[in-house]
Amino acid sequence: MDFTLTKEQQDIKKAAREFALGEFPERAQEFDRNETFDLDIWRKACELGFVGVFIDEAYGGAGLGFFEHCLITEEFWAVDAGMANAVITATFGAELLGMFGTEEQKKRYLPPLVQGEAITGTAITEPDAGSDVTGAITTALRDGDEYVINGTKMFITNGDIANYLLVFCQTDPDNPDRHRRHAFFIVETDRPGFEATKMHGKLGIRANDTAEISLSNVRVPASNRVGEEGNGFRALMAFFNVTRLHICAMAVGIARAALEESIAHIKKRHQFGAPLASFQANQFKIAEMATKIRAARNLYYEAAWLADSGKMDHALVAMAKWFSGEIAVRCADEALQMHGGYGYIDEYKVQRIYRDAKIVEIYEGTKEIEKVIVARSLLG
Ligand SMILES: Cc1cc2nc3c(=O)[nH]c(=O)nc-3n(C[C@H](O)[C@H](O)[C@H](O)COP(=O)(O)OP(=O)(O)OC[C@H]3O[C@@H](n4cnc5c(N)ncnc54)[C@H](O)[C@@H]3O)c2cc1C
Repeated sequence: MDFTLTKEQQDIKKAAREFALGEFPERAQEFDRNETFDLDIWRKACELGFVGVFIDEAYGGAGLGFFEHCLITEEFWAVDAGMANAVITATFGAELLGMFGTEEQKKRYLPPLVQGEAITGTAITEPDAGSDVTGAITTALRDGDEYVINGTKMFITNGDIANYLLVFCQTDPDNPDRHRRHAFFIVETDRPGFEATKMHGKLGIRANDTAEISLSNVRVPASNRVGEEGNGFRALMAFFNVTRLHICAMAVGIARAALEESIAHIKKRHQFGAPLASFQANQFKIAEMATKIRAARNLYYEAAWLADSGKMDHALVAMAKWFSGEIAVRCADEALQMHGGYGYIDEYKVQRIYRDAKIVEIYEGTKEIEKVIVARSLLG
């Protein structure tokens, strides 16, 4: 197996790093403190072709793999996670539309995401349904040529700024099989009855919008249903297989940032008349971080390569997700430790890294849920 990047992939990675270094550092602290973001940066990323590279050429994308999207994601997250996510998650849901949308839906809803004209998101989580997605009780009930949607969605990325969301709803609440009750719907956010309330006070990725969504008798045409009724859970699992790969890239990116900050700091700061880098305790931390990052990257590279080769291995994706999440949090913790008291202050980037890293162990399947998937694949 050869994971050497092609010339094109190396160029994408390099260009993504250059873009992030040019755009993110100057404003990262401001956006983190104020929980805001400048969408012109996302528009610029669209213009330069960093957004939605996995979207088929027929719908305006570059027609590249999920792997190339991972490469961009890792580079962006290695510079600033919050701003990276504000750009990268603007297509969160395009993967689902690409896999399960009709030709008409793809032609209408995908090109604006690449052209910097629309932002999307995917709304699954509810106040009483997080890890247990089949417990989602938002309903979409058929009424002639329309569906009427009612419910509440929690923690929805881009909820307050998206032009449309892919909303996971029950179409058949009484079906005895919990896995056959749901379907996805495209919901334009300007429809009557749709309301988004921005959530404040997040621990990290504060530049990225998160909102609570209320849907009160929101009517959508039946043509907005993505896939068949009862197919929602299956579609969601296929979607997560891909988007969890993207989370692995986020995790490896932020772990790299933690390593880079640590190396710079311990070479510069002196104690006991010597640089911190001369103490073996710190050297071991650096060695362990670098090894873990390499291992996590190899895991997700293999999982993404299999996915793009049409040989999706969902247990491997789950392994890569929990492992990369755990190493991201661990590396961020060690990085802050090596900064001592300075790491505790938000003037130092490492504090933000420490706060931003935690999310990769939570969203799109907590690390415990990923381990449940791995264990099930082994135990049956
Ligand atoms: C910043 C942010 C952005 C998000 N973006 C989105 C989004 O765009 N769209 C969306 O739909 N959701 C989004 N989420 C929601 C996220 O996916 C959920 O928070 C996550 O899936 C966990 O669900 P929960 O918070 O309800 O936790 P719970 O399900 O209540 O879990 C709490 C704890 O119990 C553990 N647990 C639960 N069940 C089991 C089990 N069977 N075995 C072992 N342990 C278990 C979990 O691992 C966790 O540690 C976002 C969340 C955040 C914080």
